[in-house]
Amino acid sequence: MATCDFVSVMQKARTAFASGKTRDVNFRIRQLESLLRMYEENEADLVNALYKDLRKPKPEAKLMEIEVLKGDVRTMIQNCKEWSKPQRVPKTLVTMMDTPVILQDPYGVVLVIGSWNYPVQLSLIPVSGAIAAGNCVIIKPSEIAPASSKLLEELIPRYLDPECFQVVTGGPSDVQELLKQKFDYIFFTGSTTVGKIVREAANKHLTPVTLELGGKSPVYVDESVDMTIAARRIIWGKMVNCGQTCIAPDYILCNKSTRDRLVDKIREILIEWYGQDPQSSPDLCRIVNVRHFQRLQAMLGSGKVAIGGKSDADDLWIEPTVLIDVKPTDPVMQEEIFGPILPILEVESAYDAIQFINAREKALTIYIFSRNAKTQQAFLEETSCGSVCVNDTMMQFTVEELPFGGVGASGIGAYHGKYSFDTFTHKKSCLIRSFDKMGEALGKDRYPPYTDEKIRR
Ligand code: NAD
Repeated sequence: MATCDFVSVMQKARTAFASGKTRDVNFRIRQLESLLRMYEENEADLVNALYKDLRKPKPEAKLMEIEVLKGDVRTMIQNCKEWSKPQRVPKTLVTMMDTPVILQDPYGVVLVIGSWNYPVQLSLIPVSGAIAAGNCVIIKPSEIAPASSKLLEELIPRYLDPECFQVVTGGPSDVQELLKQKFDYIFFTGSTTVGKIVREAANKHLTPVTLELGGKSPVYVDESVDMTIAARRIIWGKMVNCGQTCIAPDYILCNKSTRDRLVDKIREILIEWYGQDPQSSPDLCRIVNVRHFQRLQAMLGSGKVAIGGKSDADDLWIEPTVLIDVKPTDPVMQEEIFGPILPILEVESAYDAIQFINAREKALTIYIFSRNAKTQQAFLEETSCGSVCVNDTMMQFTVEELPFGGVGASGIGAYHGKYSFDTFTHKKSCLIRSFDKMGEALGKDRYPPYTDEKIRR
């Protein structure tokens, strides 16, 4: 649906929710099964769209988008019935004749706004949680990944109930128009700047939000690590999707001798993986558009280039690059990099690294590379961020049982697995009583006339 009448879209969703269709758990399961079929039957088209938008290599598209989506929707199908059941809570003396229970109430009409970097996965993981929880959903994929956005616009109405689940498209001004509607929940993935715009619009209607935002995720490396494994894991996390990942390692903090060993290893690994001419490697994406290319190119002037440093505007290509002698005031340290540029800053100790991190906005993720349990513990206890991964990068994302989200400037709320279901569910407290004489006798001391004797009982 191109730039459109959002009032009608909203009315359609409201009518669909009011019909009670999505209250039926079997309906939800059928929709989720259909979503799974959509992934299975259109894998080639999804991979092609991702290639068009980002030149995403096929294995990356499958592993990081389609397989993740299939796993997520299978979890929803398996658990939807169980999670939707009312949750009994313990009774007290006063409520022994009653039923105190928490109902898993869908919010109603939910808006999901996606980002372009994993344009399919980030638009649809929240959707499966919203469906499982019994909501109607309006999905707004990112206009910056047009092939993926167009494909979702075509596929969703073919696989999901078109009254309950609608795709709308458009850019910032359309989103601002859309946000004037009164949603029951808004789930946004994107930058911190736009997250603030979304929250402000949601506040007008007191609509609850989840904001999956970004930021600079630091990596600390000490001398105790296996340098080859550490370098591989850091470089993989940085180069997947060409660094355009919200939880990509943003910059490294380490001492000088660790830095020199790490840079040598990174150089070897980049040649081993991508060859002497990485631009011709089929395993590296491109930068999504000219604006982001220019933003990244400007960062190449920070510090000193230790590895890489080349760029090609015609090909939206930024070479995997390591920068050393970088100062905190350099351009590359002023915003989330979101590209294949890895600055290394020197610190003397883990203590210094923690001070450095704590002087900045709360990160989405912190990566700690150390064999030292005290060092690991110090980071875990003395820093605040959305998630932590010790001795690897990005892998925390793959554990469905771990909530995925930020804190402070990196976000509000979390999702994945059961956390997705809970995100889109209002926990409605209910106390169901009867006119049973015994129940009435147990509670009668609350009635006037008040006496000290009644209070003592
Ligand atoms: P973005 O904030 O520019 O765009 C996200 C969405 O907001 C898009 O659908 C876009 O149409 C809309 N939008 C853009 N500008 C708007 C405006 N002025 N008013 C209203 N709506 C607007 O983000 P992006 O460039 O798509 O994604 C990059 C950012 O997202 C990075 O900061 C990254 O870290 C973050 N991100 C976070 C996660 C996460 O799970 N935490 C995942 C992916 C990306």
